[in-house]
Amino acid sequence: MNPPRTVPDELDAVVVGAGFSGLYLLHRLRQAGFSVKVFDSAGDVGGTWYWNRYPGARCDIPTTDYTYGFDPELEAAWTWSEKYATQPEILGYLRFVADRYDLRRDIEFSTGITAASWDAAGKRWNLTTDRGEQLRCRHYIMASGCLSLPKSPDIIGAGLYTGEVYYTSRWPHEGVDFTGKRVAVIGTGSSGIQSIPLIAEQASQLTVFQRTPNFSIPAHNGPAPADRLQRLSEDRDGYREAAKYSRGGIPNEPTDILGITASEEVRRERFEAAWEQGELFGILGVFADQGLNPISNEIVAEMIREKIRATVNDPETAEALCPKDHYFGTKRPCLDTNYFQTYNLPHVRLVDLRKQPITSITETGVDTADESHSFDAIVYATGFDAMTGPVTAVDVTGTDGLSLKEKWVAGPSTYLGLMSVGFPNFFMITGPGSPSVLSNMTVSIEQHVDWVTDCLTRMRDQGFETIEPTELAEAGWGQHVQDCAAISLHPTADSWYMGANVPGKPRVFLPYIGGVDAYRRACDDLVAQGYLGFRLSGPGRDECRDGVIRTMQPDVAVVLELLATVGLPPLETLPVPDARAIMSAINATRPPSPEVGEVTDGALPGPGGDLPYRLYRPAVPAEGPYPIVVYFHGGGWVLGDLDSDDPLCRDLCARSGAIVVSVNYRHAPEDRFPAAAEDAFAAVRWVDANAADLGGIPGQLAVAGWSAGGNIAAVACQLARDAGGPRILGQLLMHPVVDSDLTRQSYVDNGDGYILTKGLMSWFWDHYADPADRGDLRLAPLRGDLAGLPPACVVTADFDPLRDEGLAYVDALHAAGVPVRHVRARGHTHTSVTMVGVVISGAPVRAEMAEALTGFFGVRTLA
Ligand code: NAP
Repeated sequence: MNPPRTVPDELDAVVVGAGFSGLYLLHRLRQAGFSVKVFDSAGDVGGTWYWNRYPGARCDIPTTDYTYGFDPELEAAWTWSEKYATQPEILGYLRFVADRYDLRRDIEFSTGITAASWDAAGKRWNLTTDRGEQLRCRHYIMASGCLSLPKSPDIIGAGLYTGEVYYTSRWPHEGVDFTGKRVAVIGTGSSGIQSIPLIAEQASQLTVFQRTPNFSIPAHNGPAPADRLQRLSEDRDGYREAAKYSRGGIPNEPTDILGITASEEVRRERFEAAWEQGELFGILGVFADQGLNPISNEIVAEMIREKIRATVNDPETAEALCPKDHYFGTKRPCLDTNYFQTYNLPHVRLVDLRKQPITSITETGVDTADESHSFDAIVYATGFDAMTGPVTAVDVTGTDGLSLKEKWVAGPSTYLGLMSVGFPNFFMITGPGSPSVLSNMTVSIEQHVDWVTDCLTRMRDQGFETIEPTELAEAGWGQHVQDCAAISLHPTADSWYMGANVPGKPRVFLPYIGGVDAYRRACDDLVAQGYLGFRLSGPGRDECRDGVIRTMQPDVAVVLELLATVGLPPLETLPVPDARAIMSAINATRPPSPEVGEVTDGALPGPGGDLPYRLYRPAVPAEGPYPIVVYFHGGGWVLGDLDSDDPLCRDLCARSGAIVVSVNYRHAPEDRFPAAAEDAFAAVRWVDANAADLGGIPGQLAVAGWSAGGNIAAVACQLARDAGGPRILGQLLMHPVVDSDLTRQSYVDNGDGYILTKGLMSWFWDHYADPADRGDLRLAPLRGDLAGLPPACVVTADFDPLRDEGLAYVDALHAAGVPVRHVRARGHTHTSVTMVGVVISGAPVRAEMAEALTGFFGVRTLA
């Protein structure tokens, strides 16, 4: 029985949910002096651990880590019994926590919040409970969990069945005895995989209906991991701090070993070690690139399949249990105890729904295309409407009467998964757009709760009444969340991370995959920048520092971080031969470049002697001839050669279906201005004259270049126009140098820290051209007459000192009547788009470049 209710009708904060999030939130907010009540439709604390009582329910994060870390005394007072705790033990822990901090007195059990609407005039949330009560609060916080709203059974006839029906997510508290019963389990996600072996122990007959086989590894449950216990006993604080700044919320040593380049021996050794360890983040981190690179991923996936085949006796069943339709890790992998072994029991049978789809649930069981099955009980382990479901299940209405459900109709939109525009003073704990389900939840929960508590405290201390993100900040974060997902393999899977498990749900990647560490830094950074992206208001004051917290592509940021750790000397401080040697050494470490049909080296006559060139012939179409692109590498007229831009040339060749002739023009300081420009023009003329011999289509000629190569490509176009030929169909200028003015804003914004610095650019200029020559049109094509030039595609990068001159060239070409396409390499540096096979986010930019090339030739792009 609930005690008589004493809920005040006006509170500082109302929290939904009394699980890990809600309990800690209540504790922190109360400590900070706020009046707060927690509401939960459950009869006690526990959240997910209150409801999910199915046999075998356990956490699959080790107990050393799936535990509160905020209070060392709490940690000392509680001892977990094993590596992976059972549901009853975790529930017992949360009850212990509730008692220890006297939390229950501020929790209203068996009461759900059904509606919340923002009263803009009163600056309060009006709430309605499912008992019909009304109350008001300043802050409304949903700590309702990411996997708390079960998916309704979306199988025809689900209502017809007259036998016993159970849902893993709503298991009877008194337990279920399946002894002697014929049982069906539908679903083979974590809940199914954990419960199936235990249900099989009781049932006389167990039939598992599997739609998608899942990757699962043995949990090897037992005592808590000795190494983690030792680290904790030696330095608890250090261990917890390491968790906060780890990728997944558990201290782990990340590897830099790539699956694609590791030897077979190393691959096997690393995989077996992770298999033996039996930890989720271990098997997800066998190789640094397994979440990004399909080849690396397949190495791990196949080794897991080998284990399944070695475990399951019947080859047909084993094959049906081997996941093949998604990359490992793109659907939540499972940890199990004897899951695959269970299929060796004579009374357990797997029905592969890919071969025999369910046609209907019937009064007595399940009909598939080929068979009618009768059961005494059906267990649905069919999952949840994840992340957004629990939030939109409440009718939340913000400013202007817009409901959250309406706002999120095409997918959730949040700032950091914490707040959403149009819903002031409304917070989510581990909401969509935060690491949440991809992390150790307890670490992510504590971080969110701490952030929210600090925010509310600051607001109170500084006299603010409302807080709300700005549209710019929210859109920027949403873009960053999707940018992070886009470089991973995750969006390829029909997973609940993508909303794909719920019919009609928009297909959007829901959590933030950039890591607990990166996420925490973003949250801390925006606070340090005066709550960047938030609008705070109070009587007589309004504060808003608008902006976007992360604008760089995530893989570009990683490359910059890695380079910073290497500590290379600035190139401009070195003698030229040393700078060239460093560049060659770096280039030698690149991953294999894309395949093309054929690569041949040759030489062409230049004004100062023969110029080496490398010709890339496409693999498709198999038969030539092909259009030709004459390409000039980057390197500030000083660095670079036929090898330096080899990956980019291969990529452009493969994507565009054109021959790429990369010309090694003369370099400074040995050959100063105008050597490079003259060579470029000579090379274009020679290739044009010899197109047929090179396998090209005469007259189908374009030029391309990156950086200084873009400079001489642009100059070659001007020279060709002035000389009356050759006819160039298009110019692809990637981050080109088009002027000698180093004072533009992009030099101020990006002059330092992004590889190409202002200092390096000055060094290039000094080596190549005398100051007196720097206005020459063969150096500064922006200053020339641009009318009559070939159609252009100009690529600019956000974090490039040359960004603004590129933009100026776009404008000038446009003004001169030249058809011009501008490709913005959003979040990229001067060099990152060229990093083929390293910076994955550069691929769509290169696809646009290739599309521009094929557009010059009037043909369709190939890839
Ligand atoms: P889930 O991973 O979404 O699995 C649901 C299963 O039901 C899938 O095999 C799914 O097949 C199947 N299914 C759904 N609708 C179906 C239909 N109409 N017909 C046939 N099959 C259908 O759900 P879950 O197992 O409850 O786990 C959800 C998440 O909760 C986990 O991924 C994990 O994050 C968390 N969890 C954690 C633990 C733990 O810590 N140990 C335990 C349980 C759950 P498809 O794959 O084809 O959709």
